[in-house]
Amino acid sequence: MKRDYYEVLGVGRSADKDEIKKAYRKLALKFHPDKNPDNKEAEEKFKEVNEAYEVLSNDDKRRRYDQFGHAGVGSSAASSGGAGAGGYGADFNDIFSAFNDMFGGGGGRARGGGSPFGGFEDVFGGGFSGGGRRTRQAGIQGTDLKIRLKLTLEEIARGVEKTLKIKKQVACQECNGSGSKSGKTETCQTCHGAGEVRQASKTMFGQFVNIVACPTCGGEGHVVKDRCPSCYGEGIKQGEVTVKINVPAGVQDSNYLTLRGQGNTGPRGGASGDLIVIIEEKPHEVFHRNGDDVILDLAVGFPDLVLGTKIDVPTLDGTVKLTIPAATQPNTMLRIAGKGIGHLKGGGAGDQYVRVNVFVPKELSVKEKEQLRELRNSPGITPAAGDPETEKSIFEKAKDLFS
Ligand SMILES: [Zn+2]
Ligand SMILES: [Zn+2]
Repeated sequence: MKRDYYEVLGVGRSADKDEIKKAYRKLALKFHPDKNPDNKEAEEKFKEVNEAYEVLSNDDKRRRYDQFGHAGVGSSAASSGGAGAGGYGADFNDIFSAFNDMFGGGGGRARGGGSPFGGFEDVFGGGFSGGGRRTRQAGIQGTDLKIRLKLTLEEIARGVEKTLKIKKQVACQECNGSGSKSGKTETCQTCHGAGEVRQASKTMFGQFVNIVACPTCGGEGHVVKDRCPSCYGEGIKQGEVTVKINVPAGVQDSNYLTLRGQGNTGPRGGASGDLIVIIEEKPHEVFHRNGDDVILDLAVGFPDLVLGTKIDVPTLDGTVKLTIPAATQPNTMLRIAGKGIGHLKGGGAGDQYVRVNVFVPKELSVKEKEQLRELRNSPGITPAAGDPETEKSIFEKAKDLFS
């Protein structure tokens, strides 16, 4: 799955053009093929960074990306390693079919249609069809119910089963959902069972006849006899049910699960709507999500970076020992394989990256200060003038690249 462009550049969603440009320059420099000869990973990163910048530096593209994600900017299928056919819409439809498979739904809510955006509206609102779909058999179909489900990164990482109490319309106990005390119905007098009536309207162009749902029976063709006093003939009442939801690992914000027939019960024996569970990811205090990888920022003492050591590092499931090699530079990404987020499709999980930073103490004892001063004068501790790794020379290189 493609990474979020803001994540790729390591900027916030509200970053301005300058911030984006700066972030881009830094990363483009870091992953530039000239600096990383024969390094496939760096090459991919370089492409990714460029793609992200191409979109986020363009007002129009950025707006569409903010609204619709990768599909909104028609990002190339090539770099995501996809088959290409079907384009960006395919990613989403794949997710939907994965969910639908899980919940036994048929064709699914992704209305494939001709448009690559089929199924897309559903995620971004508006697409949840409201109630009132009439069924031929009995009653009126119940409405779909939308709920939001907040999940922690730990829950998303390994998948989770949630038990939720949901308020919804359920069948009336008194009349078994029929709406009638005696369970009897009679043919509607207004439409004589047809469920629809003709309405003539006169205009200056002549008379028009519209066929509309019968106002008396709501299109059902029959009305209840002996209305149930408990539900006033509706056959449904407000109730509460307990629902178990199995959330697979690897879901993201705005993904949703459709539980067929778990929405509001339809009036007078109508079929139930669907329950749509929209996933919300709670921000994590320690980890940043990056696709299926997670990043942990960790400050390590200068002596440990120089000499190397083993330290305990938190992961999404417990602590692991991480080896800090000798002479580890700041901003180094150390990888802990398989400790990221479980892939939504296929087995396995992403990785955890530990971004190593230098811990700079704010308070020191007199003795520690003395030791540091002594160390400062020792050759090899501070960079020598003309050292290619000093900031100045890197700045010069950057100028060469972007001028
Ligand atoms: Zn009628
Ligand atoms: Zn009732």
